[in-house]
Amino acid sequence: MKITVLGCYAPYAPKDGACNGYLLQSDRINLMLDCGHGSFSQLQKYIDFRQLHSLIITHFHPDHYGDIHAIRHAFAGAIRDGSRKDPLVVYIPKVPQNIYEEINSWEEAFVVIPIEDALGSINPLGDLKLEFFPVKHPLTNYGVKINYNNKIFTYTSDTMWDHDLISSCWQSDLLLTEASLRGDVDDALTRKGHMTAKQAGMLGRDALVKRLVITHFWPEFNLYQLQREAEVGFEGPVEFAEMGKVFQI
Ligand SMILES: [Zn+2]
Repeated sequence: MKITVLGCYAPYAPKDGACNGYLLQSDRINLMLDCGHGSFSQLQKYIDFRQLHSLIITHFHPDHYGDIHAIRHAFAGAIRDGSRKDPLVVYIPKVPQNIYEEINSWEEAFVVIPIEDALGSINPLGDLKLEFFPVKHPLTNYGVKINYNNKIFTYTSDTMWDHDLISSCWQSDLLLTEASLRGDVDDALTRKGHMTAKQAGMLGRDALVKRLVITHFWPEFNLYQLQREAEVGFEGPVEFAEMGKVFQI
């Protein structure tokens, strides 16, 4: 499985950057994970968007789904002009209901599957197996575990520290986790809904993950500082997401 970073910033992107978006590619499937501002443009550096099989939106914060309008128009246009046959399969939360219903009504572009309907089971997508799990965030949000050839990739999306994360991320070959807060200026207790880089590292350590990649960065933050803090928690080397970076498992 190849994972390409389309965007790693939050809550806004710096020049030439994009908010959260990741392209996962197996032998048979191209899957987009979140579509924050600018990520759909980045996707088109790597594949023709018509080759995309599915999109997962973990939650409806704009830095994770802001490009949905662009994606809607791209697919509706491609279906209209015959360059794409089928609507895009889109996994989204049912909450907030008004956003869910709006996206669900765009039948000219999408087939919508509520993540809530997929919870608690293994969902095949070509040669991938998807398992969703709830995470703790001010808005309903889901992480996802993706199994490909018995290699496990897990993405936490946005979450505060929660003991249940350990079992959700257990023994991942690669864990992509948010690390939004710096230890010296932020306090996860006062800004609920996110983890410090150190907590992200401790999650990786306690879940016995093989490789830890941190993401979801304020553009102002020094990534090497976040990396160091995460490495203290992980007790080992930690990588960080960057625009266009590719991870292979
Ligand atoms: Zn969020």
